[in-house]
Amino acid sequence: MQPVSARLTGEMVSSIGYVKLKILSSIHLEDFFLFLFSAMMLDMKKPLLHIKKSRTGMGLFAGHDIPKGTKIIEYVGEIISDEEAQKRGGQYLFEINSKWTIDGSTRANKARYINHQCGQGNCDAMNVRDHIFIYAFRNIKEGEELTYNYGEEFFEEHIKPKGCKCRKCMPEDK
Ligand SMILES: [Zn+2]
Repeated sequence: MQPVSARLTGEMVSSIGYVKLKILSSIHLEDFFLFLFSAMMLDMKKPLLHIKKSRTGMGLFAGHDIPKGTKIIEYVGEIISDEEAQKRGGQYLFEINSKWTIDGSTRANKARYINHQCGQGNCDAMNVRDHIFIYAFRNIKEGEELTYNYGEEFFEEHIKPKGCKCRKCMPEDK
């Protein structure tokens, strides 16, 4: 025999659970998440990311605080073979694996505005089943410019010849 208070609590939890289930089942789950998402967006009233002038040309900036580990944006573009990538060249190629590369030069690819940072930037790139995502390596504050390390090969070929302007190489803003 349970004490009265414990039985009462149990009944209360189950009746609340029932109400929740009933509400959830009366609307489509997709609609529910869409609603939740738009409510969140309205609440923020600020874009997640914005492109603006940075010390190295254009850059991508956090529109609000982004917690560590957040998948921020996918690096998108035309998927081309490694041979085609060698032919095209350019700064917006992102190698997926030894066979395939993303040509991210399209303007639709906002991730291309993220600039290089020597050492460790506040972001990093990760390959998830051959999709490249840029995620927050640490907590990022609203207004911070997003950066990640492009890697040695890219640095030697594209950045070193004209001089690196990242925060590590040029700590002071001019
Ligand atoms: Zn640098």
